[in-house]
Amino acid sequence: MAKLTGKLSRRDMDDPKAPRRPAHEVLGVFGGGSPYGSTRYKARRLCPFEDGLITVAKLRPTRTHEALDVGWIAHAGWEAYYRVIQTYQKTFNGIPKKKSARAEFLWGALPEAERAAVAVVEAFRTEKNYGYTYETAAAIILQYVDRYRREDWWEVVACEETIVYEEELPEPMRLYNADGSIAVEQTHWRYSARLDILVIDHAPGRYGLYDVECKTTKMITEDLIHGYMQDMQVLGQQWLIENCLDLSELPPFKGVLVNIASKHKIARFERVHCFGNPGHLAAWENSTRTWAFANAVLGELNYPKSLGSCAGALRGYSKCAFFDLCSAYPERTIDDFKTTPPPLGFYRDEQKEQTSDCDSNQD
Ligand code: SF4
Repeated sequence: MAKLTGKLSRRDMDDPKAPRRPAHEVLGVFGGGSPYGSTRYKARRLCPFEDGLITVAKLRPTRTHEALDVGWIAHAGWEAYYRVIQTYQKTFNGIPKKKSARAEFLWGALPEAERAAVAVVEAFRTEKNYGYTYETAAAIILQYVDRYRREDWWEVVACEETIVYEEELPEPMRLYNADGSIAVEQTHWRYSARLDILVIDHAPGRYGLYDVECKTTKMITEDLIHGYMQDMQVLGQQWLIENCLDLSELPPFKGVLVNIASKHKIARFERVHCFGNPGHLAAWENSTRTWAFANAVLGELNYPKSLGSCAGALRGYSKCAFFDLCSAYPERTIDDFKTTPPPLGFYRDEQKEQTSDCDSNQD
């Protein structure tokens, strides 16, 4: 008789559908997020109905998508790490000229920063139903700090700062009903981004200001890397920095550095440097202004379902978090969901804004 052997991993012991506390509740971190950022734009155009369930009916699954939680926890770890470094570097009067003092400025806070990052992920070690998520997020953070220890010559200028641009349109954009009345009127255009880290890179040959955007992903592929060159979030951050920040006292702005970590047991790390030319930025602005109006129209049209975005490639070969809901109640509208108690497996979150920038995740 064949002898069965094998080793159970945390993934096998976890029930992937079991409810658990939201990650932000575990850490006691509320608020944040970017109110008019690419996440909101992309969510509405991927499936207006899904966006309506989140923003109007305010429904949330009791078990959030694994990829979102791993990304959120890794981001919280990165934030803790870079905040410690920023606070330490502020105690100096700029970067010292002397070599030994410069090393102290760049890397003197690393032990404390690493402890802070690890403490964030460790908060999930004993949290119920977070076994596999904890293992994945911990692997990313532990290997990240190890991989880049004493490699980055970064002065941390800002950490988790939100930039909001708001403009009153010279001519409102309008959609009219058949009887000539106004169906949709847009008088302002708004766009925002929450920057993970803004750094001055002091490494020889790389001197300049960089916006570092941290990402977690299932796989690092060529398509993923190339995609960032034309990504709404990445180009939008460059546009906001160039148009809203006073850069006169800072080194030359060199663009966005997409700082990617894979979720493998042995994590892969990649940094992609993106710097859109004026044509790219004009294309971004034109399309984003148009999408702002198109998204308002989709809301007015009662958040149509985007059937075809529910599962598969568009979902990173996964399923929409509301898949079971749409399947069980195919005729309910957003208003129906808003005025009835949350169905089994969902709860209502009355917070005004989402608590995390879900765009941090690639799968
Ligand atoms: S299941 Fe499909 S239709 Fe329903 S919210 Fe998700 S993407 Fe939209």
